[in-house]
Amino acid sequence: MNAIRTTCAYCGVGCGISAVPTGERTVAITGDATHPANFGRLCSKGTHLGETVGLEGRLLHPMIGEERVDWDEALNLVAGRFAQTIRNHGPDSVAFYVSGQLLTEDYYVANKLMKGFIGSGNIDTNSRLCMSSAVAAHNRAFGEDVVPCSYADLEEADLILLVGSNTAWCHPVIWQRIEAAREARGAKLVVIDPRRTETAERADLHVALRPDGDVALFNGLLAAMRDRGGFDAAYIAQHVDMPEDFIASLAIDLPGIGIDAAAFDALADMVAATPRMVTLFSQGANQSSSGTDKGNAIINLHLATGRIGRAGMGPFSITGQPNAMGGREVGGLANMLAAHMGFSDAECAAAQDFWQSPTIARAPGLKAVDLFRAVHEGKVKALWIMATNPAVSMPDAGFVREALARCDFVVASEVIAETDSARFAHVRLPALGWGEKDGTVTNSERIVSRQRALLAAPGDVRADWDIVSDVARRMGFGAGFGYRRAADIFREYCAQTGFRNDGARMLDLSQWAGISDADYDGWAPWQWGGVSPFASGRFSTPDGRARIVAVDAPAAPAADPAFPFRLNTGRYRDQWHTMTRTGLSPKLSRHRREPLVEVHAHDAARLGLTEGSIARVATLQGESRYRVSLSDGQRPGELFVPIHWTDTLSSGGRTGRLPAPVTDPVSGQPAFKNTAASIEPF
Ligand code: SF4
Repeated sequence: MNAIRTTCAYCGVGCGISAVPTGERTVAITGDATHPANFGRLCSKGTHLGETVGLEGRLLHPMIGEERVDWDEALNLVAGRFAQTIRNHGPDSVAFYVSGQLLTEDYYVANKLMKGFIGSGNIDTNSRLCMSSAVAAHNRAFGEDVVPCSYADLEEADLILLVGSNTAWCHPVIWQRIEAAREARGAKLVVIDPRRTETAERADLHVALRPDGDVALFNGLLAAMRDRGGFDAAYIAQHVDMPEDFIASLAIDLPGIGIDAAAFDALADMVAATPRMVTLFSQGANQSSSGTDKGNAIINLHLATGRIGRAGMGPFSITGQPNAMGGREVGGLANMLAAHMGFSDAECAAAQDFWQSPTIARAPGLKAVDLFRAVHEGKVKALWIMATNPAVSMPDAGFVREALARCDFVVASEVIAETDSARFAHVRLPALGWGEKDGTVTNSERIVSRQRALLAAPGDVRADWDIVSDVARRMGFGAGFGYRRAADIFREYCAQTGFRNDGARMLDLSQWAGISDADYDGWAPWQWGGVSPFASGRFSTPDGRARIVAVDAPAAPAADPAFPFRLNTGRYRDQWHTMTRTGLSPKLSRHRREPLVEVHAHDAARLGLTEGSIARVATLQGESRYRVSLSDGQRPGELFVPIHWTDTLSSGGRTGRLPAPVTDPVSGQPAFKNTAASIEPF
């Protein structure tokens, strides 16, 4: 059988895969040598995707409670309960919580139903937890959520700063490209991370700053470039609005950064001496109460030194999920209307006219943490969760469980029958899994790729876009949701990006609005905005100029004797999110068989914790148990635990219950990496 070209199900690198079905539920996987994201490379997760396409644990039929029903009964109930709730309590009494695992076509239809036909902004996505601070920073600096770099910039840079990114584990194919470029060109690598990760161990310089010391660090670097004459005056004059008072006030605050003068000077020397510099930032920057300011502090340095829009230069936000970018594009975040439009009167009118919809959301909806608060308070009475597991992945997940248990009506569109979240659902709807889906995704460098069906749909499962459209029709919105195939939706989405755009937004796919079914089927990876979207020096603000945003470093959190440690959470190399897919692969489970708490040896000795012993980690929100791993890669006073394990998988190690539901004030992104915690022997 011929190989089918598709895209990896996991991270935002968006690697192309060449897949050959070898049986009813088996697939042989190799990297697609023609895909520009990976040129044939794959990491362990992508390589072992074939082990995860069986039917073990699948949700195969619609379920109301524990009773198997047909689609008519399930969808009539969903449509009826949503319509009744809206009639009785208004459009803001319902909400969708969706996922970066959805395809762009799924996302588009869900967003259109909520914002254009129900008339509420209450659709948010688990991408809120991943990179919404980068989105906010882009909007503030560039006037639009545009990632200004491509992976090729990493290969053309002479200096790469990795901020809050364990790239070797979390974006492994980008890491492979960086390593190959370092070998070929001798580029220097700096890792800025409180932890000495595997990535940091292979860096030329590791800057072990204090948690949330990033704004102080990048403001300090901006001050150093100012003092060394490193600003690009001509570039600023032509393209950048720079608040002079802010620039004049900048100083180097070593205690705020948490490093000594020698480490700062070593970094500042490298930055000053190396114009071709890319700063790649990821969840360590974004998942913070100052995440948006961190993004802008990084962007500020690039704008002031003219290091943007040129080969081998730029601030580069890398997304976690396979289609976080596609979700951002169509409006899957509660604070974006659609197609990179906000909620101005003109934008609302444009969206409503385009959709020919009976109403339109006029204000942003609830962002993830606030959304689940509203569920808990009974303000949101009907919730539809698609392709995500908030009972594990949200901060203060115990509170989220309470909220789900209280909610009048919960629907879960799922691939897996028994997730921690689906257990709270009144109705479970079986959705296509990776390998069965057909549509598009966008990766971290804005390349739109196809995901193609490799396997027949099992049981009664249906595409997410098809399920949402069917519910919309049953709610009386038939005219807007008559799609027959994913290509119909893609064409409509592309047309919307060009509707009353007039060059105001860089996201413009309208050239594909008339794409034929055959060309959609044969779609080759295509990058919107081009390799370097701001090469012309024109940004998406009304005057075309970028903005340097005045950002202040946050104060260090007050010491709490009851919770004297700072708790950081993150990923393991071979696991993904809440393990509903990677947990199916025996090979992936070999890397880390259980969740560990990493503790500095000095702290462990003081507390009587030994390697391999069991420790109880507690925060104000809850507690969990982990096996102890002594690590001198941890700063004293700081702990690290993985995010993946769930109650269905283990008796301990469920991390979601620990982080505080503290969010960035601009983006609403939760601060998963700096929670006050305690640790003691169990
Ligand atoms: Fe998949 Fe990401 Fe690995 Fe590429 S780097 S194979 S997209 S998990």
